[in-house]
Amino acid sequence: MALVVQKYGGTSVGSIERIKSVARRVVATKNQGNQVVVVLSAMSGETDRLIGLANEINAEHSPREHDVLVASGEQVSISLLAMAVESLGEKAISFLGSQVTIKTDSDHSRARIKDIDGSRMQDALAAGFIVVVAGFQGVDAEGDITTLGRGGSDTSAVAVATALSADVCEIYTDVDGVYTTDPNICSEARKLDKISYDEMLELASLGAKVLQNRSVEFAQKYGIPIHVRSSFSDTEGTIVCKEDESMEKAIVSGVAYNKNEAKVTICGIPDRPGIAAAIFSAIAKEGIVVDMIIQNTSAEGLTDLTFTVPKLDYDHALSALEKINQEIGAREINGDKNIAKVSIVGIGMRTHASVAARMFTVLSQENINIMMISTSEIKVSCVVAEKYTELAVRVLHQEFDLAKVTTNES
Ligand code: ASP
Ligand code: MG
Repeated sequence: MALVVQKYGGTSVGSIERIKSVARRVVATKNQGNQVVVVLSAMSGETDRLIGLANEINAEHSPREHDVLVASGEQVSISLLAMAVESLGEKAISFLGSQVTIKTDSDHSRARIKDIDGSRMQDALAAGFIVVVAGFQGVDAEGDITTLGRGGSDTSAVAVATALSADVCEIYTDVDGVYTTDPNICSEARKLDKISYDEMLELASLGAKVLQNRSVEFAQKYGIPIHVRSSFSDTEGTIVCKEDESMEKAIVSGVAYNKNEAKVTICGIPDRPGIAAAIFSAIAKEGIVVDMIIQNTSAEGLTDLTFTVPKLDYDHALSALEKINQEIGAREINGDKNIAKVSIVGIGMRTHASVAARMFTVLSQENINIMMISTSEIKVSCVVAEKYTELAVRVLHQEFDLAKVTTNES
């Protein structure tokens, strides 16, 4: 008998009909001879609705009350699913995070799971119940409700699977797996059978949002494979797991893009110790997260610095810099909101030369100017004008033969 953890996202439980269909799938999994633990998100749109209410009543509300409110969405979905399972003649029991016990730190709305006491879930499983657990929420040392950040029920599911030493952790969502790129942009995009944790983390942070990043980090740390698949079909999805040799055969596994950043350039700043520190301290003080940073070698004691920030923080970043320009003495501060970051990701890059050169060549053949470049061991990213995003994604997908199966995928 296997122990299966299944997580269903908001769209999968977005209506009574859909909850009933999840119930049928869960019961079918049990009838195949498995023990089943289900982790749920709130019904789609519910968390946003609750956050809206909170902001309407008091935009400055305390983090504790925020979590008491937003955690309630999952209480609704778990009880409804348990009822739906009961109506199919099976035993089901729902649990809140505090009941099973998903212990977290007290960092409200982005709490981290510290420990899970799986005994209550285990007892219920042994007694023949289908166990339904609220995702997204936990409880801190004081007994206060916490939440794990948007998309946090993915992390709940992986953590529950780890605590129970589950055989599989299946994440059911509204897409049928992880694709080589966004199928809405590139009709040749192909579903991957397998992808490594590291690649998934890079793709997710670049905007290919399927799993909450923390869930992937958690799974990587404990070596739990995640099966991402669709709740609307029976087709196999994508397994996110430890890398193996077959994965390395593909130099590039995916092309990602991100249109949510803007670039800021500071020209003609004195090239001396303390300037970068002053600039990025000022930005950090405003709570703005910086992504790529590029500094030129200096000419005549002056240098330029370019970095990217979330588009939403662009104006804020410029005004923070204007404020400290007395101190840093830059000739000019400017920027551009109409940019996009296009990236290629693949663990095969570690062992192949000239991947970056191929990327730059393909972009140049389309006359796409590269404004910024950054690389990691398994990724090359280029900032280009936003209007070229789709074109860049398509030509890169083509150049690296992503429509074709290059690993030993079947
Ligand atoms: N309901 C939460 C959210 O909308 C958690 C989740 O869906 O994973 O972010
Ligand atoms: Mg999600």
